[in-house]
Amino acid sequence: AIDVQQLHKYFGDNEVLKGIDFHVDNGQVVCVVGPSGSGKSTLLRCVTLLETPTQGKIFVEGVEVTDPDVDIDRLRSRIGMVFQQFNLFPHMTVLRNLCVAQQKVRKLSKEQAVAIARENLAKVGLSEKEQAYPAHLSGGQQQRVAIARALSMQPQLMLFDEPTSALDPELVGEVLAVMKELAAEGMTMMVVTHEMGFAREVGDKLVFMDGGVIVEEGAPAEVLSNPQQERTRAFLSKVL
Ligand code: ATP
Ligand code: MG
Repeated sequence: AIDVQQLHKYFGDNEVLKGIDFHVDNGQVVCVVGPSGSGKSTLLRCVTLLETPTQGKIFVEGVEVTDPDVDIDRLRSRIGMVFQQFNLFPHMTVLRNLCVAQQKVRKLSKEQAVAIARENLAKVGLSEKEQAYPAHLSGGQQQRVAIARALSMQPQLMLFDEPTSALDPELVGEVLAVMKELAAEGMTMMVVTHEMGFAREVGDKLVFMDGGVIVEEGAPAEVLSNPQQERTRAFLSKVL
């Protein structure tokens, strides 16, 4: 679970998060939408301390992330992250990409790491690509490898920041299908996305952000078909 309480984030004197209260229950999929610059990525980055929150509290699985004594490596090992850019290691095979952090960070043996990696490659439908290098894969395949790599760390929750935004349109579906399956297995997920169809079908909650605040949140079908706030209506009329 993720619990964010009165989160403020400043870059210099620019306040980009202005008092965010945000909650993801275990097993929930929460989708975050909003215009460019509204603070979606910053919110997600604060949860993993890639950005330091200026004020407020964040709890991940009951552990206070904003406690100055928090063990950042331990926190990050609980959280899988997938970004717009796949960030695979280009000089390593797919299998090595999935094993390296398991061995270095989790201290698993090579055999253990390979077994977990193969399980996750099968899950994303890429078992036959384990010896391939990233450059020889399509964008959709690379993003599925990135998801499998994150899963290989056996995280308690997964954060996605526009995971399909860099993909050609015909490759978006295969990545969303993997995410949908993950959700069905009960993974706790926070997903920044422009894919309203995914939000409606898979999301338990839709959060609309604008200007560093949460303007509106609720059941995705409700928010999408009956937005209560003018700003939400204006945004949706542009993206739907
Ligand atoms: P997009 O849809 O374009 O990804 P976003 O909702 O993810 O937008 P953020 O990336 O969180 O928005 O940015 C929110 C605001 O914070 C923007 O005004 C941005 O310029 C600013 N910002 C983000 N990161 C930094 C940084 N490292 N230093 C200074 N300002 C930043
Ligand atoms: Mg962003």
